[in-house]
Amino acid sequence: MKITRIDAFQIEWTPGDPAERRGAFLLVHTDSGITGLGEASPMQGGLVSLTILKHHIASAIIGADPLDHAVIHDRLLHKLVKLGPEGALGGALAALDIALWDLKGKLLGQPIYKLLGGAWRTELPFYASIGNNGVRSVDEVCKAVETRLRDKPSAIKIRFDNDRTKPDIDIPGDIAKARAVRQLVGDDFPLAFDANNGFTVGGAIRMGRALEDLGYWWFEEPVQHYHVAQMGEVARKLDITVSAGEQTYTLSGVADLISAGVRMVQPDIVKMGGITGLMRCAALCQAHGVELVPHQTQPTIGHMASMHVSAAQPHATKPCELDDPSPRRHAVFVNPPRPVDGRFHLPQTPGLGLDLIPAEVASRRIDIG
Ligand code: CA
Repeated sequence: MKITRIDAFQIEWTPGDPAERRGAFLLVHTDSGITGLGEASPMQGGLVSLTILKHHIASAIIGADPLDHAVIHDRLLHKLVKLGPEGALGGALAALDIALWDLKGKLLGQPIYKLLGGAWRTELPFYASIGNNGVRSVDEVCKAVETRLRDKPSAIKIRFDNDRTKPDIDIPGDIAKARAVRQLVGDDFPLAFDANNGFTVGGAIRMGRALEDLGYWWFEEPVQHYHVAQMGEVARKLDITVSAGEQTYTLSGVADLISAGVRMVQPDIVKMGGITGLMRCAALCQAHGVELVPHQTQPTIGHMASMHVSAAQPHATKPCELDDPSPRRHAVFVNPPRPVDGRFHLPQTPGLGLDLIPAEVASRRIDIG
């Protein structure tokens, strides 16, 4: 099987979506007639990753064998490294890798998790990931949590999404919200707090102690992601599990976090190396006894790819992340991933297990320059 052409484009989920809110899709076409589906990180609509795919990768991989996905990934990473592996290039390579694994599964007639060595589980619980709580009142935070409890999540994560240039802006308010959510859900329900890089080291220690008293499960990205040593310092000083890594795009970056003392890492499949990259992370984490809990806020292609990898890991210490529970990003799929009674069920069909509706793709696609 040879690659004949790749097609990188945005998908408009709702008519009039601004460019930065669209999905970033990749189709890889082959001479066998099989097509692979990939998705880049849709931060700012994934525009820069799609541009790299269109202008710097497309011509370089015509004629390549999709089964050479790891060689293709590493060759392109080194060829294009000056475009910035910590960002848009990582997203582009991730989209390509996911599409090549989809092709591999379709060619061999197996779901991807089988090609990764088999699934420890094919039913995956999820946690509800709830953003923008920094600007909500205590009552509004509780209302948002109540709404998401209806989906039967195994856990709830409240994200703060504050202005990263204003650390420690309202620690008493943050503690009040964390406490109110704990009172709402009861003592036994698993909760996580995502600081979205909103604290100094001192602020993070203070917040972390409060979360320990409130019985939170993990404390995510307490300080700026680029202060790796400080992230590790917070992790080592607190008893609560401190997590980080959703803004880490390389294997060596994940290794740095682990060396610093972080014991739960959250690389994102649409940012770092796709399935190939995340499986390398899994080996690194297994070797160091570190929890791998992928960040995952893309509800369709990326989400499905991430679940195949999670299913193949022996340790599933935390549920999968589910950000947007609405069906608005399901429109282009015959069989979008939908949880049933609080669990996603991995499809048994070849590849990712996702089929596009061509007419919907055609009507929603936005070509890039
Ligand atoms: Ca996060």
